[in-house]
Amino acid sequence: MFAPANIPQRFRDAYARSEQGLIRDVMVKGAWVVLFVSAITNGSVLIRGRSLIEADPTWGLALRLPPLVVSILALAMHYGRFPGSSWSMPMLRLISLSAMWSIFGSLVFAYDQGGSAFRMMTELAILSIFCAALVSLRGVRGCVIPLFLPLSTFVVVMLYQGHPPLELLLKLLSFISATVIAVLVTHVLYHRRIAEFLARQKLNEMSTIDSLTGLMNRRAMTERLDSERARYHRLSHSFAVVLLDLDHFKRVNDNFGHQAGDRVLREVANRLKLHTRQQDCVGRWGGEEFLMLLPDTGEQGAMTAAEKLRTALQQHPFEIGDAPPVSQTGSFGIAIYDGRESASRLVARADQALYMAKECGRNRVVVA
Ligand code: GH3
Ligand code: MG
Ligand code: MG
Repeated sequence: MFAPANIPQRFRDAYARSEQGLIRDVMVKGAWVVLFVSAITNGSVLIRGRSLIEADPTWGLALRLPPLVVSILALAMHYGRFPGSSWSMPMLRLISLSAMWSIFGSLVFAYDQGGSAFRMMTELAILSIFCAALVSLRGVRGCVIPLFLPLSTFVVVMLYQGHPPLELLLKLLSFISATVIAVLVTHVLYHRRIAEFLARQKLNEMSTIDSLTGLMNRRAMTERLDSERARYHRLSHSFAVVLLDLDHFKRVNDNFGHQAGDRVLREVANRLKLHTRQQDCVGRWGGEEFLMLLPDTGEQGAMTAAEKLRTALQQHPFEIGDAPPVSQTGSFGIAIYDGRESASRLVARADQALYMAKECGRNRVVVA
């Protein structure tokens, strides 16, 4: 999994997913463009019976066919729903390399030929430099395979063929400037993409995460409730909600201050996370109220889970700084989704059960 160093750990999975989607998108579009251009090139050679460059027919085919074959293969894999997605990047590189092979290979022949063939191939090569830079997707280091490798191979071949370095340098001046500009463009685009990704993630985090406890906020929990209801209607998997309200929490604030209250809330959140399963959702529903959504759970399971949480709160006093630790208990109301009700009705039933728990003396679990 690739992620730039400045992407925080918690966003790395999301980055990998978003990059994977982008790679696939660019790969498919790139394959269509390459297929289109190679179909025209191959078609014109077939119709006119000769190519722009004067190479023998075997070389001509060896230069023209790879982009055609590779782009058809990439599109077949994409539209044939070839499993997995890890092949998209190698395929994108292969598409770039095959296009570069075709263009720079032809340029080797056109170099000696001069005239319009050389001019046309030079223009195509410059265009391909920009295309390769655009599809590199990973900044300057992403340019190594689609850009630097073909360019340096081309230069080595030309020098090997005995072309004087100075003449080569002058003739390739436009390439060199195009490469520098293309690399700069790639660098800027890449960093802008990362900055936009980070801004999007942070905005998303702010709108779904409770800043005090780091739990999901009410809005995010409401969305989870709706998607769990949809899952129930698709798969008939029952689920439960558990509403927790801390007992006499106002006293903590009144006796030790608001900051001590905040510390208790954070520690409650930690204990709730610690004592629930990975697939359970824990959120802060309001001031000192927490909501748990327990997928694939019936009444018995929800009672066991809530009892475990109740004990986790009661068992150990909460550190609040300089003053001695304080005891903090909670009351729990449980409701099992009945298959028809709205999310707010479900939570309202859990709230009624919670009210009963308070009425019956607090620090207990009641099922609606
Ligand atoms: P009960 O057992 O009946 O629930 O009593 P309670 O004192 O917990 O209930 P009440 O609703 O009277 O008080 C809730 C308190 O929670 C009042 C409010 O100051 C406190 N509170 C709500 N949000 C926060 C917060 O973010 N930080 C702190 N420190 N306190 C909060
Ligand atoms: Mg309350
Ligand atoms: Mg309370």
